[in-house]
Amino acid sequence: MSVATKPVYVDDKLREVRESGRLEYRSKALPTWCPGCGYFSIVESLTGALNELGIPAKDTVVVSGIGCSSRFPFFVNTYGFHTLHGRVLPVATGVKTANPRLTVVAVGGDGDGFAIGGGHLPHAARRNVDLTYLLFDNGIYGLTKGQTSPTSPLGFRTSTSPYDNADQPLNPLLMVLSYGATWVGQAYAGRPAQLKSMIHAALQHRGFSYLHILSPCVTFDRTNRTYSNLNIQVHDLPANHDTTDLTAALREAATPAPPALGLYYQAKRPTLDDALDATIIRAGGAAGAVSATA
Ligand code: SF4
Ligand code: MG
Repeated sequence: MSVATKPVYVDDKLREVRESGRLEYRSKALPTWCPGCGYFSIVESLTGALNELGIPAKDTVVVSGIGCSSRFPFFVNTYGFHTLHGRVLPVATGVKTANPRLTVVAVGGDGDGFAIGGGHLPHAARRNVDLTYLLFDNGIYGLTKGQTSPTSPLGFRTSTSPYDNADQPLNPLLMVLSYGATWVGQAYAGRPAQLKSMIHAALQHRGFSYLHILSPCVTFDRTNRTYSNLNIQVHDLPANHDTTDLTAALREAATPAPPALGLYYQAKRPTLDDALDATIIRAGGAAGAVSATA
């Protein structure tokens, strides 16, 4: 028996998108990513979350490193900074410290964040810089045409591992939790509603919020982190997971694949801004001097 489906008209869809307010946060430049890349879902989710929270685009800065994912600032209508390879977190820290009233979102890929930029992540996390870091993990270098990255699995075959990858992949969630991040979650580009709600929550957190986003590279990975594999593998964290329990979060992060989605951990701790204010007071300055510079 055939099921009648309601037709979807382009004009109706365009009106719905215009009226949603999301276009306020999208630039006139259309994304240059390959059709089907998971990054489309991420830009849609971030702009949707900013719109839901009513954070003005003029008070938002998106900072990126280098890579396919780091083209991101071109496609949003916020302030943006396309920085050097691996240097997204030092620059984002500087932006936030110079003007703490801004909403700062750092974005980048697994190569940018865990290879050349890997030395910066522990320090942004332990300082609890009040920003959101969206890490787009496709387990490959996409921009340079498909080489193994720090999160490529064992046995993965690429142009730089024609006899299969022999390097153990990093476990980013375990690392970031142990570095002292105060908000750690995982989402999947193929689940856009959940992704948007997690970005929404990460933006609301005061402190260093880290969202690990599993995102397929449809051009250079046809075997591993594909939509068809991830759609089967991903599942939610247990309903009774205690997000205030660091040991429970570490245990979940250390569990071998398949990957669990959701909020692993959150905690309250003074931010870098708080620490700088306290230092200024100890040195004889005025309270709130850091935020007063904004
Ligand atoms: Fe996305 Fe891969 Fe294309 Fe880069 S190469 S835009 S990561 S699909
Ligand atoms: Mg990558």
